[in-house]
Amino acid sequence: LNTIAVLTSGGDAPGMNAAIRAVVRTAIYRGLKVKGIKKGYNGLLNEDIIDMEPRHVSDIIQKGGTVLGTARCLEFKRPEYQKKAADICRKHGIDGIVVIGGDGSYRGAQALSRQGINAVGIPGTIDLDIACTDYTIGFDTAVNTAMQAIDKVKDTSSSHERCSIIEVMGRHAGYIALWCGIANGAEDILLPENYDYNEQEIVNHIIESRKRGKIHHLIINAEGIGHSTSMAKRIEAATGVETRATILGYMQRGGSPTATDRYYASIMGARAVDIMLEGKTNRVVGYRYGEFTDFGIEEALMMQKDIDRYQYEVARMLTI
Ligand code: ATP
Repeated sequence: LNTIAVLTSGGDAPGMNAAIRAVVRTAIYRGLKVKGIKKGYNGLLNEDIIDMEPRHVSDIIQKGGTVLGTARCLEFKRPEYQKKAADICRKHGIDGIVVIGGDGSYRGAQALSRQGINAVGIPGTIDLDIACTDYTIGFDTAVNTAMQAIDKVKDTSSSHERCSIIEVMGRHAGYIALWCGIANGAEDILLPENYDYNEQEIVNHIIESRKRGKIHHLIINAEGIGHSTSMAKRIEAATGVETRATILGYMQRGGSPTATDRYYASIMGARAVDIMLEGKTNRVVGYRYGEFTDFGIEEALMMQKDIDRYQYEVARMLTI
């Protein structure tokens, strides 16, 4: 192993910069050369590749976003482009590539590994939706950003005795919604994993809570459920309680990463390089049962993850 490259792909996440920094510096510390690929798999196909030195990653650990840029690259799902990308890696002397992104990005890494390029994945997504790991870079920051925003909405909705529906991100996963639901004390949490919710039950819950003396009613709605604005109209019509929807949106993807995100990103970035140096190929780094570990890409992509029923129940119990 002589030269490795690093790229960020899919949706950006706070802490990606800390991971890039750790990959670059660990590799150089261990005597390797490192290249940075701009804008995900797009940049690889366009040969948007730069040499990385330790000072290129100075002063970025505290920054949100990704200094390498990221993109979705639909072409990369096609084998001819995957082959082209592997040829480009060979042309630039890249023996291994570290991909920081979500499970879509892991599929791209898997494709590259099938073309003979050693690819190692690092879980970078605010959604926490990667099955092989209990932790993904960006989740902690996103959930804290959302929690703080929701506290603010909750203040005003209590003053006005409103019902608030707040839609948080997470694509098809409900982890941000579940965490905010518990951390913000939401009365109802709507998760895509649990798509059997019944609007009439929510309406009854609001009316009942009012009778028990609650002056606000906070509903956290996961992105995967959607329709927050129309839901607010229906709920207001059915309950007579003024109901507003707030869609938090992209603010959840930005901002300076928390200490937790910086810490895990740093360890995972270093680990990605070190497992390559140990001779391991086509792996993804993860954190499971309290330990940093790694899995084969194929195995990781076959694993399933679900919302813990007990944790969801706790959220319900605590809103009596
Ligand atoms: P997030 O969920 O946080 O947005 P992600 O990595 O899952 O991150 P995707 O948009 O699903 O985001 O994937 C990112 C990129 O990975 C895609 O634009 C594409 O270039 C590549 N990719 C996704 N799926 C495949 C696949 N089946 N084969 C090859 N490449 C893929």
